[in-house]
Amino acid sequence: MTYIISLLPGDGIGVEVIEATRPLLDDAAHAGGFELETTRYDWGSERYLESGSMMPDDAIETLETYDAILLGAVGHPDIPDHVTLRGMMLPIRKAFDQQVCKRPSVLFDGVESPLRGYDGGDIDFVVYRENTEGEYADAGGHEHRGYPHEVAVQTAVYTRQGTETIVRAAFEAARSREGRLTNVTKSNAQAHGMVFWDEIVEEVSSDYPDVTVERLLVDAASMDLVRRPDEFDVLVASNLFGDILTDIGAIVSGSMGMAPSANINVEGHSPSMFEPVHGSAPDIAGRGIANPLATVLSVSMLFDHLGESEVARDIWRAVESQLADADAPRTPDLGGSATTEAVVEDIRTRL
Ligand code: ATP
Ligand code: MG
Repeated sequence: MTYIISLLPGDGIGVEVIEATRPLLDDAAHAGGFELETTRYDWGSERYLESGSMMPDDAIETLETYDAILLGAVGHPDIPDHVTLRGMMLPIRKAFDQQVCKRPSVLFDGVESPLRGYDGGDIDFVVYRENTEGEYADAGGHEHRGYPHEVAVQTAVYTRQGTETIVRAAFEAARSREGRLTNVTKSNAQAHGMVFWDEIVEEVSSDYPDVTVERLLVDAASMDLVRRPDEFDVLVASNLFGDILTDIGAIVSGSMGMAPSANINVEGHSPSMFEPVHGSAPDIAGRGIANPLATVLSVSMLFDHLGESEVARDIWRAVESQLADADAPRTPDLGGSATTEAVVEDIRTRL
């Protein structure tokens, strides 16, 4: 078996964590008894500054042929964030129908939550975020910033197909975990899109009598993710709300540097994409101290998606074992002084 994987390191610490993690991919192939071919594409902000576009015109055709994509991060201090996001990440998610974004939040043994005095139970939940429409949709030209009244219009779009896809994925996940789903919306204020979303959750729930559904408004959910993060199992939310909730999820479970994510094409016709939740972090870029664990865990999710579940589990366990070991190297965000590379080297030894 040979898998072909494209690497899109992107910008800033994205490049550092992808480069550092590369040898681990080969170790995993060796351990799992399969072949791996990787190709790196240097698309991103540097390219944009030179040529005016983040990716070449045929980028999507190029990526289409791969089994999976591993992305670092995109973002540059001299380029507005909406330009970088819409220049690379959003088009890929959209072109490949990566409708389901899965973002686990786990407080590993040996890691302290930044919630001071937190003495609750284990934090172990996963957010299913709708990934291609909602508040980030291009609503066919309805968006504008207009003359003459300085009105800016941004439309959110919820299709039945898109909403059902994410909701079903979340119910399936809940069924395979603790059987609890929290549906996060804002249907008291957004009476069209979010009420539609709630109705679909209600409908789909009849196929999952074994899953308990809790409803929370996004403001309350944000508070509760800080107040009682140990009580969540699976959360499902729209594109924007999921984005916000997963940053909260990342930080309550230790560091932005440890949060992995998967952008999944449910049908399996096009490649899925795996990436750390964090951005290019210009404040620490170039120093070799970025935490690579978000990327390592994303690699675990990538292999799991390809059906190499044993290798996926072994990588995840190597991270668990490293974090539980007080003498193991840690990057500064986790209170240590180790480099990105030293952390990956230690993971490779454990693997
Ligand atoms: P972008 O504009 O691309 O989103 P950002 O500066 O907003 O980049 P984030 O990923 O949102 O970066 O992270 C916010 C902060 O968290 C960073 O500035 C950095 O200090 C810290 N951080 C993020 N990722 C890591 C990491 N892998 N290791 C250590 N610290 C990190
Ligand atoms: Mg950011």
